[in-house]
Amino acid sequence: MSTTLYKRVLLKLSGEVLMGNQAFGIDPDFVAEMAQEIKEARDSGLEICLVIGGGNIFRGMAGAAKGMDRAQADYMGMLATVMNALAMQNALEKLGVHTRVQSAIEMDKVCEPVIRRRAERHLEKGRVVIFAAGVGAPYFTTDSGAALRAAEMRCDALLKGTSVDGVYDSDPKTNADAKRYETVNYDTVLADNLKVMDASAVALCRDNAIPIVVFSIREKGNLARILAGEGTKTIVQKGA
Ligand code: UDP
Repeated sequence: MSTTLYKRVLLKLSGEVLMGNQAFGIDPDFVAEMAQEIKEARDSGLEICLVIGGGNIFRGMAGAAKGMDRAQADYMGMLATVMNALAMQNALEKLGVHTRVQSAIEMDKVCEPVIRRRAERHLEKGRVVIFAAGVGAPYFTTDSGAALRAAEMRCDALLKGTSVDGVYDSDPKTNADAKRYETVNYDTVLADNLKVMDASAVALCRDNAIPIVVFSIREKGNLARILAGEGTKTIVQKGA
């Protein structure tokens, strides 16, 4: 029986979350801690789709800024997300959680392709489905990938676990008076260019009425609090 507010969620973690206190790459101890929190959520009966970014390894924009072809660099970024997905799969399976990785770039030696109906079956069987390689196209981000999978898998919410504890009206790092929203409308996020997710991801969630819950995943136990409707967060939703 689920003890959470939701039956099925999409959890989006930025790649940076996997690097722990390192400056780059994957910290297996930190991935293991994350996996434990995901296992506890799954054990409560929740169906979990997972999308992990690639920013801890490679971002297309960074490559393009240094003179690389943007599309080429973006494909490298997508491959980085597959590495993160495999790292998380490994950590979850060590805890006895059954998982499947489905990649938008086909890679049949390491994972399944994205097949919605198959993903549906995995979720029904209690497996965590990790969607890798974003939408499978350059000029997008894994936020858009997360919004797309949340829509097609009919998730009740998109939980964005990141390093800040919500959405602010200005940058809290540079403005001590920055105010965190409890709830905020999709259109305000888009019009005021608030830093939540990229515009295509926000618009996709708006058009499909998927609430976006932004919270800090760096705080231990926060995922469980958020799933119980507690904890510090911002909810991006209709009519807020
Ligand atoms: N990317 C892409 N298309 C997608 C998803 C990702 O081109 O559908 C590339 C893009 O270069 C991006 C990189 O993969 O910078 C890593 O993803 P992202 O920046 O979203 O990772 P995060 O910031 O969440 O760690």
